[in-house]
Amino acid sequence: MSAARAQFPARVDKCASRSDVLGLSRIVEVDTAKGPMFGHSPAGEYNFLTDHEVVLTFDDGPSRSHTRAILDALDAHCTKATFFMVGRMAAADPAMVREVARRGHTVAAHTWSHARLQGLDIDKAKDEIELGFSAVALAADGPIAPFFRFPYLRTSKASIAYLKSRHVASFGIDVDSRDFKTRDGATVKANVLAQLAVRHKGILLFHDIQPSTAHAIKDILDALKAHGYKIVHIVPKTPATTLADYDTLAERESAHRKVATAKNPLASRSVVWPQKGSANASGEVLPWASRTGTAQRVTKAKALTKSERVPWYEQWLQP
Ligand SMILES: [Zn+2]
Repeated sequence: MSAARAQFPARVDKCASRSDVLGLSRIVEVDTAKGPMFGHSPAGEYNFLTDHEVVLTFDDGPSRSHTRAILDALDAHCTKATFFMVGRMAAADPAMVREVARRGHTVAAHTWSHARLQGLDIDKAKDEIELGFSAVALAADGPIAPFFRFPYLRTSKASIAYLKSRHVASFGIDVDSRDFKTRDGATVKANVLAQLAVRHKGILLFHDIQPSTAHAIKDILDALKAHGYKIVHIVPKTPATTLADYDTLAERESAHRKVATAKNPLASRSVVWPQKGSANASGEVLPWASRTGTAQRVTKAKALTKSERVPWYEQWLQP
């Protein structure tokens, strides 16, 4: 097992304290040693958000076409997000993975090929998880977070147990932008605000491969600010570790892609997520989204530690 040695200092930009931008309300450092699970869907064990706090997450990328527009919108609001990247998307565009990391966002994994782990043999699930982490880490050329999101939000007991054994935290979601169901940015914004009006806080799910989100993200961030929502940035206490066998596989895959790109420079831009199923081609299936009424409860609420309650600027930027 190779352990990344670099530390994870949370990057704090001075502009984050400006009153006219979202900035950052606080940074939560997540200890992943016991493989905690967060978010309502799939049912998480811990809830670390207080009223009007949100975490921004972007899945399935990176995307040459859309990720940079999202990074620019986040920068304009001097705020940070977490990107759950698909291994083979990362392998196809390592420069974009590095750019996401360089701009201070948390880089995390979302399997190698966006496989649905529910019902998958545990050995295959392990391959998907490990090659995902190895490929994203290789592309990032630096430490990534031991944070994971299940594709389609579909879990299995065996894969949950495996992630816990590897000290990986799983992040579900609380609010679904449903950006994969529309090309209309206004609809994405309305979806987010309507769900937040009910939940008042939560982990927000977007996809940085979706044009609707790329077009709407500036408006959405403006609206979050106008409605008084505060951004919480999640960072890991320690970086993800990767397994040597999977690092080798990831390196082999990366070398193949370099050869293919040299022969056909446009090849690496044409990676398109295969269409699965019908309406939710590239998105997630939310067990609770199809229900009406009551939200699922988080089974255990973790009390905030003192440092979590203190706004980041009191922690790091005291004059
Ligand atoms: Zn996904």
